Amino acid sequence: MKALLALRDGFEFRLGNGNSSFWFSNWSGTGKLADKVLYVDIHDLEMSVKDVYTDGNWNFNMLYTNIPTAVTDHLKMIPVCLNSQVADCYTWKGNLNGIYSARDGYFWLNRNEFAGNDTDSISWTWLWNISAPEKLKFFLWTALHNSLPTREMLCHRNMLQANHCPRCNQEIETTLHCLRDCDFAVRLWHSIGFTDQAFYRENDLYNWLRIGIQGKSVFMFLAAVWWLWRARNLLCLANELVSLITLRMWTENYAHLLFRCFFKQATVPDTKWVRWNAHRGSGFSNILHAELLAIYYGLVMAWEFGITDLWCYSDSKVAIKLISESVNAWHHYAAILYNIKEYLARDWRIHIVHTFREGNACADYLAKFGAANPEAYSPIVDPPIGMNLLLLADACGTFFSR
Ligand SMILES: [Zn+2]
Repeated sequence: MKALLALRDGFEFRLGNGNSSFWFSNWSGTGKLADKVLYVDIHDLEMSVKDVYTDGNWNFNMLYTNIPTAVTDHLKMIPVCLNSQVADCYTWKGNLNGIYSARDGYFWLNRNEFAGNDTDSISWTWLWNISAPEKLKFFLWTALHNSLPTREMLCHRNMLQANHCPRCNQEIETTLHCLRDCDFAVRLWHSIGFTDQAFYRENDLYNWLRIGIQGKSVFMFLAAVWWLWRARNLLCLANELVSLITLRMWTENYAHLLFRCFFKQATVPDTKWVRWNAHRGSGFSNILHAELLAIYYGLVMAWEFGITDLWCYSDSKVAIKLISESVNAWHHYAAILYNIKEYLARDWRIHIVHTFREGNACADYLAKFGAANPEAYSPIVDPPIGMNLLLLADACGTFFSR
């Protein structure tokens, strides 16, 4: 029965129809809202999430209860999508389909304090208790287990032939090389103030990460390892070279964001800080989430424009597969999927097709344009000027190869 308690942390609340109590359920994942206000006004006691979140907006003004601005600001950053067909429920965090398996449970237990019973295993409580988003904790956990798919690791598993660093092509790409020792990484670390030589001396990955996470510049450290790895993946998987200056900007913005969200002492809100959703969709738990919401909003807009014959291109095969299959009610994004399906079932001709982002220059342009936009969602009425040539090429039937 001890396992039951340990496993409980592996489940998280997922909104569906929004019938859960606005105040007394942990729908936001950060605890009950009732605990964050002085008191809940008697008029508001029965409010459910869907009463306060209507037509895609938060209507905090309708409440009698006074919610601190810092809290409402935080809530606004959470991408909410409701659908009446799917119940609010707890889903298993270990995978997106939300279905718990004994195998998942085993891995989960092994990385929680429960594993402390085993004398050989390291306790991971310290990691799961750090102040950072879950995705970052999972990333660190993977790195601490030396399981990031670096080229060295992929070679070791016979999945790749060459184990050299994709950036410098000089050294073997170990996790430490990728996150710290590669020339590019060193320059980033220097540029954000990690100049102490001791930082570069620790040769044990676990120790280095742990010292960094527990050090005084923790948010900058976390942001840097996160973005170094992301930039590495962009290079390897999308052939996209991120410049040092861009990476530094992403890192610093992300560090500020983490500080804002996770620093324990309450600070006065400062409007100059980057918004949660301002930065390459960081408010989204993953890219699939952003992809599905983009499809959904696109459909809503097309429907409102009265379009009767629509071709919708997506570069996400996973998203298309999910849309074409029946919805698994435990899926983390079940509500969005139901919303999409409701639009697909309407009386219009609609085709959802896969394309590579590079194969659709206009979509590629808009994706990059969107990444630089601070809003989570913003419709564009006229094509941006920079798109004119691309649109012309598209209209002429120009073919863009990958
Ligand atoms: Zn390198």
